[in-house]
Amino acid sequence: MFESLSERLETAFKQVKGQGRITDLNVAATVKEIRKALVDADVNYKIAKEFTDKVKDKATGEKVINAISPGQLMVKIVKDELAGLMGGEASELVLKGNPAVILIAGLQGSGKTTFSGKLANYLKLKKGKSPLLVAADIYRPAAIDQLKVLGGQIGVDVYSEPDTKDAVQIARNAVKEAHSKNKNVVIIDTAGRLAVDEAMMAEVAAIKDAVQPQEILFVVDSMTGQDAVNTAKVFNDRLDFGGVVLTKLDGDTRGGAALSIRYIVDKPIKFVSSGEKLDTLDVFYPERMAQRILG
Ligand code: GDP
Repeated sequence: MFESLSERLETAFKQVKGQGRITDLNVAATVKEIRKALVDADVNYKIAKEFTDKVKDKATGEKVINAISPGQLMVKIVKDELAGLMGGEASELVLKGNPAVILIAGLQGSGKTTFSGKLANYLKLKKGKSPLLVAADIYRPAAIDQLKVLGGQIGVDVYSEPDTKDAVQIARNAVKEAHSKNKNVVIIDTAGRLAVDEAMMAEVAAIKDAVQPQEILFVVDSMTGQDAVNTAKVFNDRLDFGGVVLTKLDGDTRGGAALSIRYIVDKPIKFVSSGEKLDTLDVFYPERMAQRILG
């Protein structure tokens, strides 16, 4: 994951690692390399600059230069700043209410349906919940079948109304169904388009108004870099979502989305998803991710 960013950072640190002494000049050169590595990983330039200015501030001066191993200290400074950029602490999924209603939103192909299945599986196995999956995509008939297949694999019921052309009504009915069937979590998989459009935003906002979800998760393909961040902004302005799910971390992703989203929308990444198997969902821990990036 983020191999190229990791390699670039490792190279940047060569200037200071293993050295008994470093100078402000070494620090400046390292910081410059870090900034280039971040920009090449598709981190927005402003974020990369602010990030490295902070690192430079902390790494310049007596404390680091006089440290026993100044290079190590500098790596630690970068690690802490990376974790901070991604939100610092892990953020929990909100599971209030009975049933707790979770709305899943995002563009088509971002991995919403796959994630919905993974989340249901996670809640069932790890949290002892009894989830109901809801197919609220009225435009792609195949979406219902896809969710049903996933539900079948994990033993979770799927609510759908193949003949209804009103996603809001489906979502409302699904919550009623959850009440009557004693399901304590409802996961609503909504429709997505290939690009943000007004009709899609209006529909998902109407579902939000109708079922008042306790949690809204925005799902985004991490491989789309800065586009992911721009899309997040549009969805957040409209939905005020509670958290982000970064998918396809198993692919050739550069890291830009993971590192920039928190800064841009001020919402935490809650889960990262890597792979198509249903047990490859992980709670997102900024510090662990920072550690992985630094190797
Ligand atoms: P949706 O249109 O947002 O519901 O997206 P889907 O869940 O249908 O996913 C779109 C495609 O991406 C499918 O082929 C999935 O199998 C694939 N996919 C979803 N999540 C991941 C992931 O974490 N890693 C990889 N490699 N592929 C994924």
